[in-house]
Amino acid sequence: MAFETLPATAPRLARPAIGSATLSVVVALYLLFVTNGTFWGKAVTYLGLPSFGLILLCIGLTALFTALCVTVSVKYLTKPLFIFLVTSAATASWFMDKYGTIIDLDMIRNAAETTGSEAGHLVTAGFLTHMTVFALVPSVVIALVRIRHRPIAQKVFWNLVVILPCLAVFTAAALANVRTFAATIRQHRDLVETLNPVTPIASVARYLKASGAEKNIVAQPLGTDAHVIAPTVSGKPRVTIIVAGETARADDFSLGGYSRLTNPELSRQDISYFKETSSCGTATAVSLPCMFSVYTRGEYTHEKGLETENLVDVLTHAGIKAEWWDNNTGSKAIANRIAYTSFSDRNDPRFCINHECRDDVLLAGLDAWLDAVKSDSVLVLHQIGSHGPSYFQRYPDAFRRFTPDCRTSELGNCSRGEIVNAYDNTVLYTDHVLSTIIDKLKNRENRMAGSMIYMSDHGESLGEHGLYLHGAPYFIAPSQQTHIPFVLWLGREAKAGIEQSCVAGKTGEPKSHDNLFHTVLGMMNVATRVYDPALDVLSSCRTGAAS
Ligand SMILES: [Zn+2]
Repeated sequence: MAFETLPATAPRLARPAIGSATLSVVVALYLLFVTNGTFWGKAVTYLGLPSFGLILLCIGLTALFTALCVTVSVKYLTKPLFIFLVTSAATASWFMDKYGTIIDLDMIRNAAETTGSEAGHLVTAGFLTHMTVFALVPSVVIALVRIRHRPIAQKVFWNLVVILPCLAVFTAAALANVRTFAATIRQHRDLVETLNPVTPIASVARYLKASGAEKNIVAQPLGTDAHVIAPTVSGKPRVTIIVAGETARADDFSLGGYSRLTNPELSRQDISYFKETSSCGTATAVSLPCMFSVYTRGEYTHEKGLETENLVDVLTHAGIKAEWWDNNTGSKAIANRIAYTSFSDRNDPRFCINHECRDDVLLAGLDAWLDAVKSDSVLVLHQIGSHGPSYFQRYPDAFRRFTPDCRTSELGNCSRGEIVNAYDNTVLYTDHVLSTIIDKLKNRENRMAGSMIYMSDHGESLGEHGLYLHGAPYFIAPSQQTHIPFVLWLGREAKAGIEQSCVAGKTGEPKSHDNLFHTVLGMMNVATRVYDPALDVLSSCRTGAAS
């Protein structure tokens, strides 16, 4: 803006001038046709090429984008607003076009709650090049040109001369083929969800509105009647380790039939593997609070999750010591009322680089914690697991078994085979971490009744349907993002009173995150009004239970 007010005596740059309406049209066309590759790809698929619908969509959206850009072309606001729109659209187009990401409310929430080191992996050379070409260069052009604004009364008149016909064209185009558009939008909600930068900006606005309201939410008590029905027969404390996994997809677990041996250690343990388990969401910020909540996926909302105490609180009400160890981006408010340790905050150089740690950091302190157990206890270990795109940083060299593995967070620089190799090494490492936890519990069977339950928070796309990473809206999420591994290990005493053949018979049944809350209460022998035996995967297998 300073360029506009240079004194007449200053050497003037020969800056090209452009009318505000003309610039608005150029920006509208740039946004609609340069940063909307994913949207137009979907439009062509859903409407057909060539098709009457597609032509009308082009005309209608051009008119709408032009009307919107002209509307905001107000003196002093034009440049910053256009630069903001171009930069937002360029950022969103990178993730949409490259990874198939849809930037909805949950994705923005997940991004806002992620750590700097995790987000840093997404700032690759490819991303910076993309931003230079599609955001920086057009922004510099917008900043440098001289915009001719008419006097205000004339401007209002001429802007309306552009805006009103544009809105009329948009309406006419929509109405000309209203049935096709209505049916397409209803059937393919992802089409609207990829319109750039409309959806990303609307999602950020919705997030800001929701997060402002959430600040005042206080969790209401849940299960305050909870109590342990009876101590163990031997009098030893019950200890359950809940491993909240990260980004592990069931498709790559050999326990579930994957052709590569990614679970060599767990397959030697006496575990139950539930093959058909689905997640509550496709991103940590949704799935994690949902897993620990009393609500089923059908009932759960982000607000309900915050408004109500969760599994770890109910355990506390029952007099059980509950603790949370985090090697990820935090507990998403689940552990707000219990002892909490963040290992990425500690940044122990033996396991961590720049506040990002391998999961052996969770194992390092486990012996001491287990040796200190005196009473019934539950420890939640929140892994980094298989979180991408830097899969190669999740496992040490000893677990670099599938090679060549992708050694960069720039997935575009690796072949699909290299990406899958790196990902499978992360699964191999999680297999080792889980098996080590089981061994540590087994070694202490003389002084505690141990068990372990593991569920991943969501899965991951590794190029299927052109998608990478996770966080797709649930209604269109591919199974790779929602089909998750679920492992249960019961120690000698935890197993007593449970029909093993009955449990084996249940491992092929559909299970989900809905089961975590109630299964853990059952494992810890807790009675409360909020316990639902129908959702406890073990309840009908307890001896004496009606199956
Ligand atoms: Zn996650």
